[in-house]
Amino acid sequence: MRPLTDCHAHTELSYCADGVLTIEVYRAVLDDPGCIIARQALTNHGFQAYFPPDIAWSWEFLDRPALFDRHVTRGDERLLAFKEELENCRDDRLIFGVEVELMGDGRLTISDALRAEAQLLLGSLHVMPRAYHKGYAPAQAIESFFAYLRDLAASGIDVIAHPFRWLRESDVPVPQECVEETVAIAKAHGLALELSARSRGEPAAALIKECAAAGVPLALATDAHSLAEVGRLQPVVEQIERAGFTIDRVPLFDGRRLPSR
Ligand SMILES: [Zn+2]
Ligand SMILES: [Zn+2]
Repeated sequence: MRPLTDCHAHTELSYCADGVLTIEVYRAVLDDPGCIIARQALTNHGFQAYFPPDIAWSWEFLDRPALFDRHVTRGDERLLAFKEELENCRDDRLIFGVEVELMGDGRLTISDALRAEAQLLLGSLHVMPRAYHKGYAPAQAIESFFAYLRDLAASGIDVIAHPFRWLRESDVPVPQECVEETVAIAKAHGLALELSARSRGEPAAALIKECAAAGVPLALATDAHSLAEVGRLQPVVEQIERAGFTIDRVPLFDGRRLPSR
């Protein structure tokens, strides 16, 4: 089988991840001969690096981006310390990434200085900023989703992470045209689209088929937050097989940003 990259996983630096998830835990799993992952990206949440837990979990920074400027030193220091820890391992299987989102003013939750340091940027939508939110009816939710997605795709990220999670969590059905438009946006910006082992009820088969047809690379992801999820990429391989492909026949993202970015 071709060497696979897990493009998305969290360590103890993320508040929502298990405190036992050190870099060493990931390295030990990579060393296991049964592990199908050859390269491991560690992509902690930008907003959790920059903001203390009370602000992070209130999500108020999305609508008050000035908060980001106030906490920029804190986050830069935490992310740089993590990068240094990663580099000290001298293990080229590891990739330093950050999972970021758009704030209401269209900026990402990462500073320009750290953006230049990161090898990989995942762009996510967890909570919709008010500036993008057009309403709760399905048609309005889809309109909000694409307004956000277009700005996110143009922001300099490499991968759109769990693309349909927000729609699913908002109980909005994801029609085929929505998958097609998402793939078209990724293609226009030269981005990869994530296929996550954590997806539940998201249209994985439609996403795989559209990406394969359009030549848009899939970014395989455990999105590990717990010990049980570390190295567990097999569910993603099975999603690909269920969609009628083999892992060797789909375009895959190798986890490292293009030099042109
Ligand atoms: Zn996420
Ligand atoms: Zn994540």
